[in-house]
Order: sequence, then structure tokens, then C-alpha cells
Amino acid sequence: MEKISIIVPCYNEEEAVPLFYREICRVFQEIPDIELELIFVNDGSRDGTLKVVKGLASQDTRVKYVGLSRNFGKEAGMYAGMSYASGDYAAIMDVDLQDPPALLPEMLRSIREEGYDCVATRRVSRKGEPPIRSLFARIFYRMMHRISSTEIVDGARDYRLMTRQFVGEILRLGEYNRFSKGLFGWVGFETKWLEYENVERVAGETKWSFWKLLLYSIEGIVGFSTAPLAFSAFLGVFFCLVAFLAICFIIVRTMLYGDPVSGWPSMVCIMVFIGGIQLFCIGIVGEYLAKTYLETKRRPIFICKETNVDSGDNKE
Ligand code: UDP
Ligand code: MG
Repeated sequence: MEKISIIVPCYNEEEAVPLFYREICRVFQEIPDIELELIFVNDGSRDGTLKVVKGLASQDTRVKYVGLSRNFGKEAGMYAGMSYASGDYAAIMDVDLQDPPALLPEMLRSIREEGYDCVATRRVSRKGEPPIRSLFARIFYRMMHRISSTEIVDGARDYRLMTRQFVGEILRLGEYNRFSKGLFGWVGFETKWLEYENVERVAGETKWSFWKLLLYSIEGIVGFSTAPLAFSAFLGVFFCLVAFLAICFIIVRTMLYGDPVSGWPSMVCIMVFIGGIQLFCIGIVGEYLAKTYLETKRRPIFICKETNVDSGDNKE
């Protein structure tokens, strides 16, 4: 029988885990022709998430847990889950039921019958989200579309079902600074997109502050585009041109009208302005350098402290 691994990164989700488990069990009663493996990745939760998951694992052998040694972030959690998954198919889902499990049978059908390698989801609305967050998200996706050659779809969720081959390729991308929305697009393959309306969390609260999302978007930009570097070079050329024209203007004016000393406040303003632009461009270069620095250390993406996954199960 074929096997499906459902990977669920959890961070402080003790209330949501039982609700999620119940819902998944209900959905899989409808598809009895596939074996289920439910991998909860505990991403260093400070509450009783791991205890709740261990409780489920003791009653149900399909439940597996991977406990990370600290909070590594959702990206690392997903990677950890994929590296422990042994199914012929693997799906990534949030534990808060914002990714409707009811879509799974349809996703599975698309892969099995229509020959897709991956079925991904995107939400077509952002109902229930703060407007400012939606606005920034929209700007980010529009900008990424322009500056990156990798397709990064607006509203794309991490919720997707993949074949073993697809998962294997994702695992081969062992970069430390991970931006999965880009990595999934980068590996290629045939992806089918399903759309659904945004669903609000069942329990607990979002782990993403505005600040964290902003940093994550920088991760995406630096990881999938070098346009900011070209932009700073362009700014340099632009200011050289402006300076050249200004020099010509001043030479002509001095020859015509002499050189009365005045205008130092405007001079100071210009100097501060150019200084600001220079620091900004150095900052952009620094951001790329910092990412390169972190990559060269080759630190592991996650550290697993405890798990009940039998390593013999693991095909990787
Ligand atoms: N998550 C995680 N590590 C983190 C932050 C979040 O594993 O550091 C998990 C979280 O438990 C949830 C999923 O990632 O299952 C999505 O998080 P959340 O619902 O807070 O994000 P949102 O849906 O608001 O984008
Ligand atoms: Mg959520």
C-alpha cells in the first residue's frame, strides 16, 4: 500500500494539536487505500505541545514526533519533517487548520491520476488579516515578480502535497537561509494550484509578528534575486551623471558671473543625502555578504533532540 506523510511544524500549539489530529483522522477515513504517517515537528515549543503529541503517539502508531533542540523557525521545521518522512507522498500542513485537510483527497487524486508532481495551494483572499500586513504582502509579491526569475506566487501557502521525488530534490537544496516559497518554485516539476478562501486559526495565535515577516521577506529577496545589487550600482552611475552635469553648470556659471561664496547649507544637504545613499548601498551589499557568511559556516538546518521515527523507515 502507498504511504503518505503529513508534516506538521508546531510551535506552542498545545491547543491546536488535538483538534488537528481529530480532523486529519476524519479525512483519512474517507481514503482508506493509503497508509498515513503523521509527523509532528516540535519546533522548540515552550508549552506542552511535545507532551500532547507524545500522548497521541502512545495511542496511535501512525503519529510520529520529531522534537528539535530549540526553536529553529518554521522553515527548519518543514525541512526536518521532510527529512524524516518516509511516505511515497508528503504534505506540509499548519497545525492551526488554516490549511483545510478536506482538500487532501482531491490533491492526492491530482497526483495519482493526473500525473502532477506537486499540488500546491494559494488563498485567494486575506480575510481576517490586518490590512497593513496584506498591503505589504501584496507589494512584496509584486516586487518579487519583477526582480526574480523564480516564480513566487502571491498568496501561496506552504500547504502542498509532493511526490517522493519532489521532496528528495527539495532536501538536496541544503541552504541555511531558507525561503521555501521560492525553493518550491525553483525545483520546477509540474505543479497544480488549488485555490481557497482564507480560513482563520482554530486556536492559539499567529507566531508571525510584522517584524518577523519583514525579515522573512528580506530573506526571500536576497535568496532569489540579485536585483538590489544592480540597483545600487545603477544609483552610483546615476549620481555620477548628476555630479558631472552639476560641475558643468557651476563652471559655466562661475565664468559668467564670478564666484560669490554662498550656498553652504545646500552643500551640506547634498553631502548628507549622498552619504545616506552610500550607506544604503553598502547596507545592501552587506546583506548579501552576511547571507554568504552564514552559508559558508555550513551549520545544520535543524538539530533533532528526540524522535520516535525509526531511522530504518527513512528512505533518504
Ligand atoms: N511555526 C513553527 N515555528 C515557528 C513559527 C511557526 O513551526 O517558529 C508553525 C506553527 O506552529 C504553525 C505554522 O508554523 O503550525 C504556521 O504558523 P502561524 O499559523 O503562526 O502562521 P500564519 O498562519 O499566521 O502565517
Ligand atoms: Mg496559521
